Amino acid sequence: SGASSGSPVQADLLGPEPRVRVLLPLPLREAYDYRVPAGMTLNPGDYVEVPLGPRRVLGVVWGDGAGVVESARLKAVVRRFDVPPMPEVERRFVEWVAAYTMTPPGHVLRMAISVPAALEPPKPMLAYLRKPDAEPPPGFKMTDPRRRVLTLLDDGPPRTPAELAEEAGCGVTVVRGLAEAGLLEPVLLQPTKLGRPDWAREGPTLSGDQEAAADDLRTRVESGVYSTVLLDGVTGSGKTEVYYEAIAAALKQGKQALVLLPEIALSAQWLERFARRFGAPPAEWHSELTGAQRRDTWRAVANGEVPVVVGARSALFLPYKNLGVIIIDEEHDSAYKQEEGAIYHARDMAVARAHLGGIPIVLVSATPSLETKVNADSHRYARIHLPGRHGGAVLPDVELIDLRKDRPPARHWLAPTLKKAIEETLADKEQVMLFLNRRGYAPLTLCRACGHRLQCPNCTAWLVEHRLARKLQCHHCGLSQPLTPTCPNCGEEGTLAACGPGVERIAEEVAELFPDARAAIMASDTLFGPRAIQEMVRRIADHELDILIGTQVMAKGHHFPMLTLVGVVDADLGLAGGDLRAGERTYQLLHQVAGRAGRGERPGRVMLQTYMPEHPVMQALAAGDRDGFYQLEAEMRLEAGMPPFGRLAALIVSGEDATAVEKVAMALGRAAPRSDTVHILGPAPAPLALLRGRHRRRLLLKAPRSTQVQPLIARWLEQVEIPPSVRVQVDVDPYSF
Ligand code: ADP
Ligand code: ZN
Repeated sequence: SGASSGSPVQADLLGPEPRVRVLLPLPLREAYDYRVPAGMTLNPGDYVEVPLGPRRVLGVVWGDGAGVVESARLKAVVRRFDVPPMPEVERRFVEWVAAYTMTPPGHVLRMAISVPAALEPPKPMLAYLRKPDAEPPPGFKMTDPRRRVLTLLDDGPPRTPAELAEEAGCGVTVVRGLAEAGLLEPVLLQPTKLGRPDWAREGPTLSGDQEAAADDLRTRVESGVYSTVLLDGVTGSGKTEVYYEAIAAALKQGKQALVLLPEIALSAQWLERFARRFGAPPAEWHSELTGAQRRDTWRAVANGEVPVVVGARSALFLPYKNLGVIIIDEEHDSAYKQEEGAIYHARDMAVARAHLGGIPIVLVSATPSLETKVNADSHRYARIHLPGRHGGAVLPDVELIDLRKDRPPARHWLAPTLKKAIEETLADKEQVMLFLNRRGYAPLTLCRACGHRLQCPNCTAWLVEHRLARKLQCHHCGLSQPLTPTCPNCGEEGTLAACGPGVERIAEEVAELFPDARAAIMASDTLFGPRAIQEMVRRIADHELDILIGTQVMAKGHHFPMLTLVGVVDADLGLAGGDLRAGERTYQLLHQVAGRAGRGERPGRVMLQTYMPEHPVMQALAAGDRDGFYQLEAEMRLEAGMPPFGRLAALIVSGEDATAVEKVAMALGRAAPRSDTVHILGPAPAPLALLRGRHRRRLLLKAPRSTQVQPLIARWLEQVEIPPSVRVQVDVDPYSF
């Protein structure tokens, strides 16, 4: 049942009972039939409002009615919204994603109509600011929810009552109460005016290699046919400058461009740079936008008024009127994998979207995923290579520090060699970055009296001490408890001890070793929101800081000319555990972190502290031998029949009742479609065997590359009865295996 582009369905022409199929943004298997009322004309793609039980819901006309329901019981479409219909390619994309990921199409549609308000004609919206210096009237009780709303308004743009209520976790009446008490200032939000980037502005003069690369991309965009290109080159080689040219080419043709970034909320530098190049910022699409911004952007994208969208993976599902090119920056990044709801990999879905739309897609990375690398090697994807850093900047020297020999003092984590390098760098008035991908003070807290380890009651995870916030936190479910002086197990006081370092503990060591240096932590929980990150990035760029201690947040795209030393505190961190992708992921992350050093005129140094200096990941990083490392990884995966050479799909069985979960998992194991080529691994505990109070078991289906796994899985699931208390999620192409 494909999305048809059939002819209009009109009540007065087709006899008494014309009907349409309407797909609803709900987890339903099928589109439902509705009657077209007299005087209404409907086309496939039209956004409509229809009755569903006692409710009215939005939906999209998917095609002509199938005629299974008796006419007398058929309900009528209530109204049609006055927005451009969802383009046919968009509808086919929804169906494709649903079929590939084995998600109900309505569930995918919900990602595409995520802003119902955008369907209504834009009108000014009532929003509130905090009224400066206003005092609460006598007798006004300052409750916690009221205080939260006011605090929210102290930092941030005016917001609608509904937005404030949602953000503060209270009812709209709380907001109204504050307004009536005269503490809020009403403003009318006009629909956002989005700027128009100008393709005709001059970019920098490109080098010969860059120009050749840009030319190749321009030709692809102009030809308007599908192709996937890997834009491959070290950090600083000018990949961004080159893909700007592809964007300019699309705009010149009057088409739209979509750029996906792995962590858009952290990408202030990218946005500023884009605005400098094109004279206006792009439209953003991510979870930090306000409701009004989402509404206006969605509508403008549908109307074709937005030329460039930069966004998170959800930006793929916007209703582009005339998309001309897709760019996936840092295509290897695991942030592109959505693990909840519809489980999908945005890069792979984007390739499908480009294919359906007949447009080029550019995958950009200095360290491509092995999947993309193999596709480029086998010429399924084209490859454009940028050979060196622009302007003769040299790649940093990478040194390994063998922690078995070069030992930090007890309860310290910086080896003498790294400490000395930091001293030298500070003496030269340059900047240092210490990287540790672990938030908080210590990853594990243990009682020295009874050996008890503080663990999350809801997850297979330790509770992490956050000393600055005086909390113990679970990084998986968000559980947060006050730090206690006594062991919850034996009741002894003062026996809890922090084990191992997090960034806060490294900051403590830095303060002790370099008391005069200006140091700061940069992690997602120490920086609240994009503005704070932007401010931190500015302080670093302006050299108001000497030493940064940071997590992954800091590894992304930033460009700091005075940063010449990068120290990786624990290079082995990502290699623990049985995940076959651990090597690839660790290599990509550390390579990206290393790329932060020496981006300006001064050469950079990178030091990796490791207990495994002979590990292939460390050896490849030290030797700068990327392709050698990929070769080894590829051979290992080929040998094991694992992706990208074999195909994997995971079934995750979860529920609150461990016995029920186990029963379903065992039944699935017995019913599994085994053959000479299809193998089933498990059931076994899933990574994070307990998550948010749900027990999780996993079965992995492993098949040759050419196997279509979806029909196999569909038949498999049909054979097992799954009680309502247990959920089975399908993850086609799991990221970890
Ligand atoms: P990448 O995306 O590969 O990391 P960028 O495009 O960010 O590389 O380029 C690295 C730095 O070099 C940026 O500051 C960029 O503005 C600069 N740069 C790259 N190419 C040129 C060029 N042809 N002329 C001037 N500056 C350039
Ligand atoms: Zn937890």
